[in-house]
Amino acid sequence: MTFDRRRLISELESIAGPEFVAWKPEDLLVYEYDGSIDRATPLAVVVPADVDQVSAIVRLCRQYEVALVPRGAGTGLSGGAIALDDSVQIVMSRFRRIISVDVDNMTAVVEPGVVNADLSAHVARWGLYYVPDPSSQRACTIGGNVAENAGGPHCLAYGVTTNHVMGMEVVLANGNVVWLGGETRETAGYDLRGAFIGSEGTLGIATRVAVRLQRLPEAVQTMVATFRSLDQATQTVSDIIASGVLPAAIEMIDKVTIAAVEPYYHPGYPPDAEAVLLVEVDGLRETVKEESAHIEGICRRNGTSDFRSSDDPVRRAELWATRKGAIGAFGNLRPNYYLVDGVVPRTKLRDVMRKISNLGAELDVLIANVFHAGDGNLHPCILFDEREPGAVEKTIAAGEKILELCVEAGGALSGEHGIGIEKQAYMGLMYNPDDLAAMARLKPAFGAGECFNPSKIFPTGRDLHGAAYRGPIRRTGTAEVV
Ligand SMILES: Cc1cc2nc3c(=O)[nH]c(=O)nc-3n(C[C@H](O)[C@H](O)[C@H](O)COP(=O)(O)OP(=O)(O)OC[C@H]3O[C@@H](n4cnc5c(N)ncnc54)[C@H](O)[C@@H]3O)c2cc1C
Repeated sequence: MTFDRRRLISELESIAGPEFVAWKPEDLLVYEYDGSIDRATPLAVVVPADVDQVSAIVRLCRQYEVALVPRGAGTGLSGGAIALDDSVQIVMSRFRRIISVDVDNMTAVVEPGVVNADLSAHVARWGLYYVPDPSSQRACTIGGNVAENAGGPHCLAYGVTTNHVMGMEVVLANGNVVWLGGETRETAGYDLRGAFIGSEGTLGIATRVAVRLQRLPEAVQTMVATFRSLDQATQTVSDIIASGVLPAAIEMIDKVTIAAVEPYYHPGYPPDAEAVLLVEVDGLRETVKEESAHIEGICRRNGTSDFRSSDDPVRRAELWATRKGAIGAFGNLRPNYYLVDGVVPRTKLRDVMRKISNLGAELDVLIANVFHAGDGNLHPCILFDEREPGAVEKTIAAGEKILELCVEAGGALSGEHGIGIEKQAYMGLMYNPDDLAAMARLKPAFGAGECFNPSKIFPTGRDLHGAAYRGPIRRTGTAEVV
């Protein structure tokens, strides 16, 4: 290490307070992870209280030539919040104020550490909600959502984070504080707000976010249909969309997932169910009634073996439980999961799902599928046990093949979880070196260079994905360093 780590830590402590700086190995352990399978130990962790502290920390780290990695709740699934290359993690969990709500204009300004579901819960008293609803919404933060351009079940009809964020206050690499976009719905000039959203913490640190809110719908109907084959279920998705109805959400789980959720939620799906489709429509009462009947007809024509439907909030939450709780329930089958996030054109869904199933058999890996079927956003979860020799390597190889299948089908490497550490080595599947170089020029344009979240998104030539299992990522959190 070419600098004095002890001094850096003591200066971080003088900015944020000693109780808000972690550097002991046992304290750093919990910051090694996010929701992905990658991990690395940060040099130190700092938890600032306000924008002035963020700005001072950015300036200090720049002086020491140490990079900063922003962190929200650490639920990311591509390794975005993991600190590589001896960087300091800056955790935004003290930024959790909802600063203002403009009920008439249906907007709000919040701090980035606000938990996604808490915002909707807060504004419900005015009949409003915040649309993007990642399945992790009870834990993930608005800052993390902005950085990943997060989606969610209800983004099919209403759009992902970028469609609901008007602007954000950002601390740049020189410590200056700027607004990208604004607190109003329209701004003129280049869409720098749009460039920041989905930039995965590589361009700056968001310290405030101005969001759009939407009126809670008058009526909501949730329908769950089980099918004896995955083909019937995927055909139903195509038929619903082709019929001209755009539901608020179309989600699917497959047979492996059904086996995982059945003992937890006891939904009592028929024993021969191979796929469960969840469709939700919302809007004006009359329209919802008409569209629900229309969707039920399509499900029945495609041979649903069990159809359930409700507009009652408690019953609707029960219908959603198996979808929303699916990932946690995988612990029932295997201790580890690797959730792959790829997109395919909806028309290729059936074909790609079949290929993924064949791939599982060919590579001898257990794959569960739980996904946003309506927008072709696949989430094959490879279930494994990291203690079994070779299991991690097999899992990573299967993940790579799945992403290749998605790209070959005309899809994309990521629907919503970002590139992070996980997919940087696969960027070449979609982009040539000129494309990547053009994209990378955005960083210096923001003055960011490698100041924020180094070695993410762009191929580094290093084998970083799954590296913690092989050992090359240096563990910096050792007692003798400080
Ligand atoms: C069970 C489960 C279900 C999920 N379902 C979905 C889903 O339906 N849709 C979906 O899109 N995602 C989903 N995710 C992934 C994850 O929840 C999202 O990517 C979420 O947006 C991450 O938010 P976070 O606060 O946890 O961010 P983190 O994981 O802490 O960080 C994610 C990225 O954001 C950056 N970042 C965080 N805060 C800031 C900030 N203030 N300024 C700049 N950069 C910042 C980090 O550097 C990192 O690159 C799911 C995850 C889990 C575990």
